[in-house]
Amino acid sequence: MSRKLALIGNPNCGKTTLFNLLTGSNQYVGNWAGVTVEKKTGMMKDSDYEIVDLPGIYALSPYSIEERVTQEFLLEENPDAIINIIDGTNFERNMYLTVQLIELNKPMVIAVNMMDDVRAGGGDIDCEYLSELIGIPFIPISARKAENTDKIAKEIHHVINHQHKPCEIDYNLTTRNALNSIFAVIVSRSKAADEPYPYYASKLLEGDSFVNRYIRLDDKQKYEIDKIAKEYEERSPYNDREALVADARYRYICLLYTSPSPRD
Ligand code: GDP
Ligand code: MG
Repeated sequence: MSRKLALIGNPNCGKTTLFNLLTGSNQYVGNWAGVTVEKKTGMMKDSDYEIVDLPGIYALSPYSIEERVTQEFLLEENPDAIINIIDGTNFERNMYLTVQLIELNKPMVIAVNMMDDVRAGGGDIDCEYLSELIGIPFIPISARKAENTDKIAKEIHHVINHQHKPCEIDYNLTTRNALNSIFAVIVSRSKAADEPYPYYASKLLEGDSFVNRYIRLDDKQKYEIDKIAKEYEERSPYNDREALVADARYRYICLLYTSPSPRD
């Protein structure tokens, strides 16, 4: 059986350009079951990997059909690895989705696209540093110019074979404490060892309705998680758990710029 790769990124980050490059003419187009969202799949050239092109989204929320299709695919079909493509000219915003993907705790590579534009603007992105810091390959590419895109297949192969997964997200203390408390409530489910508990925990802290339904908590667990979320909210004037978790994610992304390089 072929292995399955999920291709995920924000709208307009170059996902289709990369998908075409990686698969060539070997593509199949259909629809996701029950919805009118287009589903494209294709075999990665010279490999037995099937790439599933997921809808362009900004977050793994339960609000749009595209977001729900993506969450459902990631949790239920359990792809072997994720190719996350991000627009390097819009790094911080694109990393918001990346942070959520990291919590799924799967083999993953990040293709940092539009590097031709980044460099033309006099900028650069230290992919080597990010790879060390987050523990998964960040590959600088230009999908439009087909630059460095051959690295993706090589790195995908590597992360799958070594079950190479990203590091834990380093949230602020309040958020980390709340996540640990939720983790303690849900981990007793212990269905399968490779379930993405960090992802469940941050989604439950946010109050994500999809994950809430998906993992089927009992009433006592729901009550305890609600209590943890309320205490978390009360520590800030906003009183909005979803906004607080979003803020914690952005704070982590900002720290990627300011922490000292591990090579120093
Ligand atoms: P999608 O919405 O994520 O599927 O993105 P597309 O593949 O349709 O690309 C969106 C736009 O970005 C198109 O105009 C592409 O030509 C352009 N694009 C894609 N990759 C690159 C790249 O590496 N560099 C530059 N400068 N433009 C790119
Ligand atoms: Mg597209």
